[in-house]
Amino acid sequence: MNNRIYGTTKLTGLLGNPVKHSISPNMHNSAFRKLALDYAYLAFEIEDGFLEDAINAMKIFKAKGFNITMPYKEKVIDFLDAVSEDAQIIGSVNTVLNDNGKLVGYNTDGRGFIKALEESKMEYKGKKIVIAGAGGAAKAIAVQLAFEGAKEVVVLNRTLSNADEIANNINENIHTCNARALEFHESSLKEELQNANIFVNCTPIGMKSNVDESIISDISTLHKDLFVADIIYDPLKTKLLSMAEKAGCRTMNGIGMIIYQGALAFKIWTGEDMPIELVKKVLFSKE
Ligand code: NAP
Repeated sequence: MNNRIYGTTKLTGLLGNPVKHSISPNMHNSAFRKLALDYAYLAFEIEDGFLEDAINAMKIFKAKGFNITMPYKEKVIDFLDAVSEDAQIIGSVNTVLNDNGKLVGYNTDGRGFIKALEESKMEYKGKKIVIAGAGGAAKAIAVQLAFEGAKEVVVLNRTLSNADEIANNINENIHTCNARALEFHESSLKEELQNANIFVNCTPIGMKSNVDESIISDISTLHKDLFVADIIYDPLKTKLLSMAEKAGCRTMNGIGMIIYQGALAFKIWTGEDMPIELVKKVLFSKE
């Protein structure tokens, strides 16, 4: 492997804890190498209480920018100079640009999901979207869809107060979208899906550790005109997506979201388009 770190190389990276499992270093470094960009991406495990020091260090090192992951996506806002309007409403930041010493925060998670929908040629403007789950990913997706023109967003979650928080946030800040929250029951989900266009699973049900599980137990909960997205990317086809295929639905897995949230950060830092196909091959090819 040729050395590609020089005195001029610009630093980017990830601040969080844990970070060792992250696919972001591989994603960004493969893209930098492919486009011969003089950047490097490192993952930094930041212990509790050291976030501000870590951010100051990135500033001192004149890092071009960095990603933020759990558990600091909300806390980081206290240490930034500016935050984009959508990230402000979401209340969390996953990407920071160092604009000549001024730190600007963005959230590319929800936008990454929307880019993936667009790649799948699925319209979301003016549509009704139903979301299962009300954690960090659900919040970013729900708010971003509302921000970008969805007509109605319904969030169902086992803990109603978490879904309420998302719906209230949307109704208070984005007046073009109507949001509602419900406690998760499959019967309520089925009812909401009757006239919905898109259903998104934002719970971890169906991940590698519980592949035989699905957020729904009965295939008749779905209907063939529904677009079903699962943001899980391991496995590539969750049980929910298999059920959705059987019901005749168009489907989308979580790969597009994870890649596009990175591609949007890459564009913010470098001004260049990430080589998406190369990155997909590097990260998800089983060879
Ligand atoms: P999170 O903040 O921990 O939220 C998890 C949500 O799922 C919560 O609403 C939780 O309900 C609900 N939930 C968890 N276990 C459940 C169960 N057994 N039954 C019913 N509901 C359950 O997690 P997150 O960061 O939003 O991530 C959620 C999933 O999305 C994970 O699988 C993650 O890998 C995936 N993800 C993918 C991408 C991507 O780019 N493709 C990005 C981020 C996350 P309560 O509120 O009741 O606790």
